[in-house]
Amino acid sequence: MSSDLVEVLVPIPLMEKFSYLPPKNNTSLLKQGSRVLIPFGKRTLVGVVWSFSKKDSTDKRKYRHIVEVLDEAPLLDAHSINLAEWASRYYHYPLGEIIAYFFPPSIRKGKEAKFRESKYLELTSKGSFLQSEDLARAPIQQKLLALLKEKKEITLKSAQAFGISTTAINSLIEKGYINRFSRELSPYKKLENKKLLPSKKLNPEQKEAVKAINSARGKNITFLLDGITGSGKTEVYLQAIQEVVNQGKQALILIPEIGLAPQAEERFKEYFGDRVMSFHSAKNDREKVDAWLGASRGLVDIIIGTRSSVFLPMKNLGIIIVDEEHDLSFKQMDKFRYSARDMALYRAKLEKVPVVLASATPSLETLKNAEEDKYKVLKLSKRATGASLPTFQAVDLRGKELNEGLSKELLEATHLELSKGNQVLIFLNRRGYAPSMICKVCGWISNCDRCDALMTVHKNPFKLHCHHCEAQKTYPNKCQSCGSNDFLTYGFGTERIEEFLQGHFPEAMTLRIDSDSTRKKETLSEYFNEIRKGKPMILLGTQLLAKGHHFPDVTLVGIIDADSGLFSADFRGSERVAQLMTQVSGRAGRDKKPGRVILQSYCPDHPQIEEIITGSYEGFAKKLLEERKSSKIPPFTFQAKIFAESPKSLVSRDFILNLLNRANVDEKVKANVRLVGPLPSVMEKKSGVYRWELSIFSASRSNLHKFLDVMQSRLYDAKASKQVRWAIDVDPLSSI
Ligand code: ADP
Ligand code: ZN
Ligand code: ZN
Repeated sequence: MSSDLVEVLVPIPLMEKFSYLPPKNNTSLLKQGSRVLIPFGKRTLVGVVWSFSKKDSTDKRKYRHIVEVLDEAPLLDAHSINLAEWASRYYHYPLGEIIAYFFPPSIRKGKEAKFRESKYLELTSKGSFLQSEDLARAPIQQKLLALLKEKKEITLKSAQAFGISTTAINSLIEKGYINRFSRELSPYKKLENKKLLPSKKLNPEQKEAVKAINSARGKNITFLLDGITGSGKTEVYLQAIQEVVNQGKQALILIPEIGLAPQAEERFKEYFGDRVMSFHSAKNDREKVDAWLGASRGLVDIIIGTRSSVFLPMKNLGIIIVDEEHDLSFKQMDKFRYSARDMALYRAKLEKVPVVLASATPSLETLKNAEEDKYKVLKLSKRATGASLPTFQAVDLRGKELNEGLSKELLEATHLELSKGNQVLIFLNRRGYAPSMICKVCGWISNCDRCDALMTVHKNPFKLHCHHCEAQKTYPNKCQSCGSNDFLTYGFGTERIEEFLQGHFPEAMTLRIDSDSTRKKETLSEYFNEIRKGKPMILLGTQLLAKGHHFPDVTLVGIIDADSGLFSADFRGSERVAQLMTQVSGRAGRDKKPGRVILQSYCPDHPQIEEIITGSYEGFAKKLLEERKSSKIPPFTFQAKIFAESPKSLVSRDFILNLLNRANVDEKVKANVRLVGPLPSVMEKKSGVYRWELSIFSASRSNLHKFLDVMQSRLYDAKASKQVRWAIDVDPLSSI
C-alpha cells in the first residue's frame, strides 16, 4: 500500500490535480474531502484530498510525502464534492480553486474547523480518591480539589478567579490527579420554546403556492414563484420553510444584496427564533466559521446568505430559495464566474430537494424554462395587503425647463405627498455629484487616464473618481490643458440631487442611499430603521433602494432618468431596465396608501417606456423572448465568452486569434458553434488594460462545452499567456 498515490487539490490556477505519497508515519486512513498540508515548490500549502491511485511500476517520478493530515473526518461531504466537480467542468475553472469557495478563510488556511474553545479542569480517576488531608501542606491545591469534587469540572478561567495559581494547577496535573482539556463552545442554543410570531393567514394563491412547495418534499422540483411586488412571496416561502424545519431539515435562502440581510434575518427570527444565521462578506472570520459549522453540523435551521452561501455544506438540506432570482449579483463577474442561482439548481438536483426561484421580474432564462414546463410556476397576482399596484405617469421632458434635472410635475407631486405625511422615493442610478466635468474654455473633459470612461465629480469629499477603476484625483483648480478655472459639471448624480432636494424641501429629511453613503457596515440598517419610523421624508438612491425592500409609507416613486439604459450596447440591456424600473416602481403604495410612479423621459413613446407605464413586466418579457428567439440569442442559444486583457490592445486581440489558430479544433466541434469576434469589449480600456472578447454560441450545451474544453487545454498552457490575462465566462451576463 505504501506505493499508493494520493491526488490532492491545490489552490492554484492550474487544471491538474497533484499526486503525493501518504504521510511518512501515517496511521490514520486518508479520506476524500480532508485537508492536508503538502509541500509545493518551496512552500507548504493546504490542499484537499481528492482521490487515490496506484503507482504505475514504470512511473519513475519522485513524489513527495503529504506533510500532515489536518482533519481525521473529512470536511466536505459527497454532495459538496460532486457540486465542485460539476462546477469545474461547467465553468471550466480549476477545481483546486473552486474548493476554496467551500471553506471560510481561516479553514481554507488550515485552522481547525471548530467553534471557539474553552479550557477546563477535571479530576482524573486517581484524583477522585484523593482526600483533602492528603494535600494538607498545599492549601491552594486543597481548595482546587474541593472545587472539583463539588462541581466535577470547572473552566480554567473560573479556577483563576477563585485565586488558584497556575503552579498549583500544574503540580496537580503532574501528579496525575487532574486533567486539563478543551471543549468547544457552540454559539447555538437548543431549540427553545420562544413565543414566535403567528403566521399570517394566506390568501388563496399563497395557500396554493405553499401547498405545492410542501408536496415537493424530498423531490427535486424547481418552482418559479412569480408574484408582483408586494404580493407576499416572502410570506409564502417563510411558511413553506416552516414545514421543512418541522421535518428537522434545513433551508438555504440566497438573497442578492448584503444590505437586505439584516432585514431578512430579523423577519426570519420573528418566525423561527434564534436558529437562523446569515452569511455574507461583512461577517468576520469567527462569525463565518460559526455559521459554517452550524450549517454543516445541523445546528442551525435556516441560513440566509449572499451568493457565496451556495457553497455552505449543510447536514440536512431540505429546500433552497433564491430570492430575486433575476438579480445580477448572483453571478460572480471575476475569477470563478459562477452563477449562484444555477449552482443552487444543480445542488438541489444532487440533494433531491425543491428550489424556489422567487421574483416579480423573472429573468428571461427562467421564464423560458417555465414556458417549457421545466419549472412549475406559482403565480401571485395581487398585492398581499390588498393594496393595488401603483399608477404610472410619464413626464415628457422635451422642451421642459428643469430644476437640477427635476420637472415641475415631479417636484409638485413630491411636495403634495410630503405635506400629506407620506414618503417619496427618488431614483437615480448614478452616484456622485455629476458624471463628468468640462472646461468651458477649451473643452477639456474629465477622462480617466486608465479607462475609456469619464471621471465622476464627487463633492463630499471633493474629488474626481473613476467608478470603473477606482482611480481618484483631487478636484482641479485650473484646467490642465488651458489653465482656465471656468468649469462646468455636467449631468446629475445622487449627491447633486441631494443638495438640491435639501434646499428645496427644507422641512423634510432627504436620505441619500447609495454605496458611498452606506459604506459603513451599520449605516444601511440605521437608515432603514429611520425610514420605518414613517415620518415624511425623501429617500433618494440608486439600485440599492430597488431591491426587495418593503417601505410601507412610500406613496410616490420618481424616476429621474427613465431613458438611461434604453440604448445599451448589450442585448440584455432592455431586460435589465425593465426589471429595475418595475422593481423601483414596486416600492410605491405597498401598504394601505395607494402609490404612484412618475417617470421622466425624453422619449416617453419608446415601446419600452410605454410597456413599463402599462405596468406589465410579463407582457414586456414575452415580447423580448420572442425577439431573442427570432434572432437566436440567449436564452435560445447557449453562450460563453473568452476574455483577454493586456497593456496593449493588439496583444489582447492576437492572443485570441492565436488561440483560435493554434487550437486543433475538430472540424465537427467547430461546425457546431458560432464564433463572434474577437471584438474589443464595450469599454475596451479599463484599469489600464485593453480588453478583447470572443463570443461563442451554440444551440447545444454539450457542443459548447466540447469547444471550450479544447480552448481550455490551450489556455492553461502557461507559456502562451505571459503578458495576457484571460478568462472563460460561461453564461456571461454582461460585457462590462
Ligand atoms: P414580496 O416578497 O412579494 O415582496 P412580502 O412577503 O414582503 O411580499 O409581503 C408584502 C407585505 O404584505 C408584507 O408586509 C407582508 O407582511 C404582508 N403580507 C404578506 N402576505 C400577507 C397575507 N396573507 N396577509 C396579510 N399581509 C400579508
Ligand atoms: Zn481648458
Ligand atoms: Zn478608470
